[in-house]
Amino acid sequence: MSILTTNTQVNSPIEEFTFKQRKFYVKRDDLIDPFLSGNKYRKLFSLITLDKLCIDTVISYGGVQSNAMVALAALCSQKNWRFIYYTKKVDISHFLQSSNYHIALRFGMQHKALDMPIYRDFIASLSLSIDERSYLVHQGGAGHDALPGIRQLAHEIREAGLKDKRLATPSGTGTTALYLAKELPDFTVFTTPSIGDKTYLLKQMSALEKVPDNLKILESSKKYHFAKPYPEFYKLYMQLKECGIEFDLLYAPKLWKLLLENTDGEILYIHSGGLTGNASMLARYAR
Ligand SMILES: *Cc1c(COP(=O)(O)O)cnc(C)c1O
Repeated sequence: MSILTTNTQVNSPIEEFTFKQRKFYVKRDDLIDPFLSGNKYRKLFSLITLDKLCIDTVISYGGVQSNAMVALAALCSQKNWRFIYYTKKVDISHFLQSSNYHIALRFGMQHKALDMPIYRDFIASLSLSIDERSYLVHQGGAGHDALPGIRQLAHEIREAGLKDKRLATPSGTGTTALYLAKELPDFTVFTTPSIGDKTYLLKQMSALEKVPDNLKILESSKKYHFAKPYPEFYKLYMQLKECGIEFDLLYAPKLWKLLLENTDGEILYIHSGGLTGNASMLARYAR
């Protein structure tokens, strides 16, 4: 296992990236750390820089294969914090040893599976029952605590002084895209929903902050279901990889597809990490 970067001076490189005869730039947040990388590093920055003696437990919840879960597990292992993670009850018997789930368990995650009927109410009650030695991270690292890390990312982007003031990053909760747009008002920020549609994404974003006009949500006419294998996504993933950069299989392909179809010029793509999830997805594509 790698040595985690808890260095607060990380400034990931911005690289030129030619894809399909078009020049892009890529902010390599995937290189920050193998487990605590991409936008999870940014969104958890408040927690990363928190003195480890301030708390002893981190509590979170969400998908049983999520990238946020791996990032939190790696961070808690480094900080010597207990990590308790709640999910709905699902069949985990077929999960690969290389899956996010097993990586997180090896980092010491305590997994608690809840029956469907009580899951929602239990999660809602967490914020009320949390004690002062525990820190609650909402699903996917969404929430106001994500702002300081995204602000640092925005600062690094501004410092790069790119001519074309347009960037792109895919959305789950929408926290990253929303805060980037807010922190970089002179940039256009492109994103696309990976989970649910545009209405759902806007609803999630609006719960955090008024959605600014410089945020542009690209939508595809075809419906895609999150974490379902699509041959066209696999093909794009392979083509991107052949051009020199590996992206995640869940969020990146759809946004790359929409960027190629709907935009031109030298857009800056913010690599959002998530590579540890690829082993499980690649196994599903192989089947
Ligand atoms: C978590 C994640 C996202 C979604 O980020 P949000 O801030 O929740 O929108 C996008 N890409 C990757 C690879 C992720 O792991």
